[in-house]
Amino acid sequence: MFSEKPAEVLVAGAGPVGLFTALSLARRGVGVRVVDTGVWACTHSYALALHPQTLPLFEELGLLDEVLAQSCLVQSVALADASGPRARLALGVDYPEESLAVIRQEALEGLLERALAKHDVYVEWRHEVDGLEQGTDWVRASIDRYEKESRGYIVAHTEWVVAGSATTEFQYVVGADGYNSRVRRALGYDFPEVGAPQYFAVFELSTDAELKHEMSVVFGDGTANVLWPLPDGDCRWSFLLPDHRDPSVEGIKNVLESSGFGHFPTERSKDRVPSSEGTHDDILSEASLKQLLAARAPWFDANITAIKWRSVVRFERRMASGFGHGRLWLAGDSAHLTGPVGVQSMNAGLAEARDLAFVLACILKDGEPTSLLEGYSQRSQAVWEQLHGEAGVLQPGPEADPWVAAHALELQSCLPATGQRLSAMAAQLGLQFAAPVLK
Ligand SMILES: Cc1cc2nc3c(=O)[nH]c(=O)nc-3n(C[C@H](O)[C@H](O)[C@H](O)COP(=O)(O)OP(=O)(O)OC[C@H]3O[C@@H](n4cnc5c(N)ncnc54)[C@H](O)[C@@H]3O)c2cc1C
Repeated sequence: MFSEKPAEVLVAGAGPVGLFTALSLARRGVGVRVVDTGVWACTHSYALALHPQTLPLFEELGLLDEVLAQSCLVQSVALADASGPRARLALGVDYPEESLAVIRQEALEGLLERALAKHDVYVEWRHEVDGLEQGTDWVRASIDRYEKESRGYIVAHTEWVVAGSATTEFQYVVGADGYNSRVRRALGYDFPEVGAPQYFAVFELSTDAELKHEMSVVFGDGTANVLWPLPDGDCRWSFLLPDHRDPSVEGIKNVLESSGFGHFPTERSKDRVPSSEGTHDDILSEASLKQLLAARAPWFDANITAIKWRSVVRFERRMASGFGHGRLWLAGDSAHLTGPVGVQSMNAGLAEARDLAFVLACILKDGEPTSLLEGYSQRSQAVWEQLHGEAGVLQPGPEADPWVAAHALELQSCLPATGQRLSAMAAQLGLQFAAPVLK
């Protein structure tokens, strides 16, 4: 079931960024198709919070009330260590739209997909963008459609097979196709690492903890850990594992590097399975959780009644060498990857989605010049230069608390904001961006 309107833009990927892009385009009257290799939308929460600066973007789409109804609002950020909170950042105590909205990623994707359907745009699941070829005023995409096929005679089993392939011409393709982006590869972009990969152990817990609309970022022994309240009263702890390495994934990385493909990310799918239990049993055991809490947050003395989900997730930090050119453009994880603590990648991705959709609509509907796309690229690049420390690093001013001053560098990737709002949030703590001081 596809939209009747001929598609001017193909969005590859129906994660939060692709869905947001498609919806923003559809609302502006642009014909859009959105395809995703996945069998269905994600069934688990990965990125889980919308920054205060992201909420107006949902208001613009008429979705703010629905978002807030499914969210738990966070109104302050506690900065802590093993001894307890050491500093606090106040967010929107009076106005919900100034708060952080903690919403499960599957809930967010679900509401975007439903809103898109109201514009008669239906996500084409099990469709993969394969080949891309661009000319001066068109781009051709070949899209494979997968179906399940029963195979085998003695032992029957089913497999996903390509059931059909079609090549279609569009005016633009937006690559919101995440980690292993096909669109980024068609652009010929490098995707170099800007920092070492980080492993996090993630636990979602039922507890009797009173989290009081507050998230906590907890530092200690070179680790950043984060405690989030969740909408259903549960909470999520993510612990950085500084010495952990998954030999199979690091093995793939070594092979890529030694074959001259060091700029390729290792394999990571947006897995639609409930957890990675079984592969990391020791780290994800209850005993390990207790040890992590005792060492890093002994003040968290809540009774844990159930571990509902647990996983070890590897986060790479990478930056594509551009945001697009000609008829192919990137938004979201296809262009950048970073650690999870400040939920910066998804939120910056949603701002990119809004910006790119606005620019494309101006070009396609109002006849504005295509050079507007350069502005999109420059604005997005500037945000990531700040996040990755290329435009300066956080430094303490004279009024910064000594504990905050000692953690200034770590805070850069942990504060829930990007761009000017990140500078403003840091300023509340007496920190500012400045060129690194060479010692
Ligand atoms: C396992 C995992 C755990 C995570 N945990 C956290 C966390 O704790 N905190 C946090 O802040 N962030 C986390 N993230 C990152 C967060 O999910 C992303 O930043 C966010 O989802 C980015 O959204 P996106 O739409 O750009 O990309 P994605 O959500 O990755 O969506 C990309 C989509 O593109 C589709 N796709 C890929 N290739 C093609 C193709 N060729 N054709 C068509 N479709 C294609 C994929 O199926 C996918 O649905 C996690 C990510 C993963 C994968």
